Amino acid sequence: MAKVLGIIGGGQLGMMITEAASKMPEHISKIIVLDPTENCPASQAGAEQIRADFKDKDAIIELSEKSDIITYEIESGDSDVLKYAERNAEINPSPETLKIIQDKLLQKSFLKDNDIPVARFIEVRDIGCVRAGLKEFGYPALLKARRDAYDGRGNFKIGSEDDIQEAFDYFKGQSLLLEKFVEFKMEVSVIASRNTKGQIRTYPLVENIHEDNILRMTIAPARVTEEIARNAELIASKTMTVLKGAGVFGIEMFVTQNDEIIINEIAPRVHNSGHHTLQSSETSQFEQHLKAILGLELGSTRLLHPTIMYNILGSKSFEGKYRPIDLSEPNVYLKMYGKEVSKPLRKLGHFNLVARDNETVEQLLAKIETLKEKMETKPL
Ligand code: ATP
Ligand code: MG
Repeated sequence: MAKVLGIIGGGQLGMMITEAASKMPEHISKIIVLDPTENCPASQAGAEQIRADFKDKDAIIELSEKSDIITYEIESGDSDVLKYAERNAEINPSPETLKIIQDKLLQKSFLKDNDIPVARFIEVRDIGCVRAGLKEFGYPALLKARRDAYDGRGNFKIGSEDDIQEAFDYFKGQSLLLEKFVEFKMEVSVIASRNTKGQIRTYPLVENIHEDNILRMTIAPARVTEEIARNAELIASKTMTVLKGAGVFGIEMFVTQNDEIIINEIAPRVHNSGHHTLQSSETSQFEQHLKAILGLELGSTRLLHPTIMYNILGSKSFEGKYRPIDLSEPNVYLKMYGKEVSKPLRKLGHFNLVARDNETVEQLLAKIETLKEKMETKPL
């Protein structure tokens, strides 16, 4: 029997999950999203919407009563409320997995305890802990909020003793951890999936370029040796084995100066660095996520051709309605998220540039340079 799928969050990730679900009518009959924004992206793709805050307890319970299975596109859900909602609907990834991941300190401790490499870190209970940590692993270091961080806004870099007080005051009363700063060579990620029966599949390693702490583009495959890629994919696989969550997970990593891989953080959901799979793979990460939570056999994760995903971000110089992005180029697949208003660095859409006829990643990067200007948002 086809199931009703509930999604907490109806932004672009919820939208692309909804689109993938609509191609599986034999498994999913209806999609309902919980999102506070009127006419949210997922509702534009055909999902029914419960309009409420992501943390609204009654709304989450209502969603669970109307759904057979629940998943999410944001990791800030209240895991206790979700635990309660589990009596009405199956929830994947499970509230237990979510609870570990949504707290960076619990997440890093969990990884470390399972011998998965992470940067050195310590729990921060007061400013004395910050000083003790800095003494232990030196400058620079990052003070990080344990919860609800995104786009790097929960991080403060401490470069010298003079920054300690300012960094500590910046977070006013939040729970924190201190982490050694990693002088990485490259930021990479693995989109990993595990279905409810325990089958695990990882997508090939990709390279992530950030600007202003926001993902600018993803290069698939990452420009690293086969050995580094294999190692990263093995670490991702091991993480999925110990974590036991079902669904797709975005595992962000660093390649260190010694070509070691260490995990930065895990997102318990489909991930921006996996959008290339819409064109680069037989199975997109969105379809894979649905297969995983429904307990279906996972799809192929093989990379069919090099692909670059480029994020279309709101211009830094204005806020308001913007001119439609017009991009019609061979081998370019534009996906806009239906957001009416542009805000500085808001994620409004992305495109995938796909290699044809043995084009190399370097050639794709040169093409991106010529397309950048067309991607600028301008006021309407
Ligand atoms: P996101 O940007 O994924 O929403 P976030 O706000 O939770 O995430 P992190 O992923 O922890 O923050 O960090 C954001 C960026 O800061 C990373 O992509 C990386 O560039 C940098 N960073 C984080 N931790 C470290 C570290 N220990 N050493 C060096 N750079 C780091
Ligand atoms: Mg991150």
